[in-house]
Amino acid sequence: MDALDHFTIPVSGLRMGQHTFNFKVESDFFSHFEGSLLQQGDLTVQLDFDKRSDMWELHFHIRGLVGTQCDRCLEDFSLPMQIEEQLLVKFAEEEWEDDAVVYVLAGTPQLNVARFIYEFINLAVPMVKTHSTAGEACNPEMLKFIRSEEDVAGPEDQPESSSSVWDALKGFKFDN
Ligand SMILES: [Zn+2]
Repeated sequence: MDALDHFTIPVSGLRMGQHTFNFKVESDFFSHFEGSLLQQGDLTVQLDFDKRSDMWELHFHIRGLVGTQCDRCLEDFSLPMQIEEQLLVKFAEEEWEDDAVVYVLAGTPQLNVARFIYEFINLAVPMVKTHSTAGEACNPEMLKFIRSEEDVAGPEDQPESSSSVWDALKGFKFDN
């Protein structure tokens, strides 16, 4: 996790009050999280960090693009992200967290925010993401093959039908 060290906020060295930190999240960021569904991204993170004696208040402003696959035409595309998230860090005798509050040991000198940024980005990806989510049009060639395949096979045959789409594409190239 050394590559994510620059996401560490050196809290003990900060005076009380507001501080701003800026980070870049690029594709290699996601490779540090095992099993990440997202592999590609280009985002900026502005973190407004309020250090108080009884808690730390964090506001994340995340902007940019993540690479993902269209659920309709199956082509890769860039999904714009605009994320606003808040996190409270409070102090306790053992570390734990609930929905919006992370508890750290009193006297904890620093806080790494990489995992929170990763989770916020993942939470912001919609369940169904298509080119139209990004204001773009699907690839009409891909749709043509998927549609003609749906006419033949029922929706239950999805794994088979998607391999048939590639067979059809191969045939298409061959015939031309
Ligand atoms: Zn599409």
